[in-house]
Amino acid sequence: MDSVEVVVVGAGQAGLSSAYHLRRTGFGPGVDFVVLDHAPAPGGAWQFRWPTLTYGRVHGMHALPGMELTGADPDRPSAEVIAEYFAAYEDAFFLPVRRPVDVREVRDAGWGGRLLVRTSQGDWAARAVINATGTWDRPFWPRVPGQELFRGRQLHTARYPGPHAEAFVGRRVVVVGGGTSAVQHLMEISGVARETLWVTRRPPRFRAGMFGQEEGRAAVALVEERVRRGLPPQSVVSVTGLPMTDEVRRARERGVLERLPMFSRVTEDGVEWADGNRAKADTIVWATGFRPAIDHLAPLRLREPGGGIRLEGTRAVRDPRVHLVGYGPSASTIGANRAGRAAVRDLKALLASGEPGEAGEATAAATATVPRDSAAV
Ligand SMILES: Cc1cc2nc3c(=O)[nH]c(=O)nc-3n(C[C@H](O)[C@H](O)[C@H](O)COP(=O)(O)OP(=O)(O)OC[C@H]3O[C@@H](n4cnc5c(N)ncnc54)[C@H](O)[C@@H]3O)c2cc1C
Repeated sequence: MDSVEVVVVGAGQAGLSSAYHLRRTGFGPGVDFVVLDHAPAPGGAWQFRWPTLTYGRVHGMHALPGMELTGADPDRPSAEVIAEYFAAYEDAFFLPVRRPVDVREVRDAGWGGRLLVRTSQGDWAARAVINATGTWDRPFWPRVPGQELFRGRQLHTARYPGPHAEAFVGRRVVVVGGGTSAVQHLMEISGVARETLWVTRRPPRFRAGMFGQEEGRAAVALVEERVRRGLPPQSVVSVTGLPMTDEVRRARERGVLERLPMFSRVTEDGVEWADGNRAKADTIVWATGFRPAIDHLAPLRLREPGGGIRLEGTRAVRDPRVHLVGYGPSASTIGANRAGRAAVRDLKALLASGEPGEAGEATAAATATVPRDSAAV
């Protein structure tokens, strides 16, 4: 078993920001910390995003700390641009990313206040874990009666191949979901499909004008408040509303963004509403979001009765050895940058105190879950 001070799980924006700050703070790459990622290549979740999501179409993408992303061609897929940038970043700062390594479980090791990180490539013992696993690996599919009967195709945003796929060209397509991804899918698919329908649970809210810093802070504060109360985090868009860009305005004028309420069941050849109305469909796209990919943390029992993990900053209240970055209020590129820095600052203090589980304000809550062992190393 390998042993380090800190294991970072995930090498997306949040994991790389954490790794950068660990290095800067004096943790030796590969010796004191390691980054484990189950993706085949650099790029975090960006490497899997659809080819028509060009760099010019992502908004508010913040560079990682210490290295700007300059001169990128806005017409290239962001999957390529960001994967190349992340790869250059890992090289420039000698970040010890091991891949593909799937982290299957994090549990208390039962000795030395250590955590045991079980992976597809063996086990690691660590004094702390920074979890930066994002949401892409846990697409959320709502359960709707009849889904299994549908004879057409169903796919989630996580597998959206771009509009020119056979599933869309000349087909009747229903897009479900009230977020930015749903709007982008509709704008694209409506250009090639026979017909598109947009279905959302709640009426969508469009936001005119630019999103100022003040509103940004207020939106993050709302998500933060939920996490502090141990509730599952909301997506930031559910708080901010949908941006009304020129492209969105044009799509609305074309009638592409006329929204229908959620249907009550899926039939063999379409969807049906509670009032008996029906629509035929060849393809259903579930743009219904993602959930935090944190199943591997289950043995630590971090969840509160409300279903979320209560955090103080980035630190799990139930176990101060564990930090969640890119989770809830920090699930944006800028949030992930800041969370990485905050987690490292907090962990440095914890590890310097010599006794994991005893630093910071979380001590009282943590003692119940962090066994301390005289065999501490
Ligand atoms: C379509 C889309 C567009 C977006 N556009 C923007 C934007 O324009 N601006 C913005 O600020 N934000 C945007 N976001 C949000 C943004 O992507 C994220 O906030 C940020 O990039 C996520 O970084 P992350 O490091 O938290 O997660 P990810 O990039 O998802 O990285 C997580 C990493 O963890 C790894 N991993 C997961 N589970 C395990 C495991 N068990 N074992 C090992 N490795 C694991 C994955 O392989 C992955 O590399 C967008 C999100 C989506 C879905």
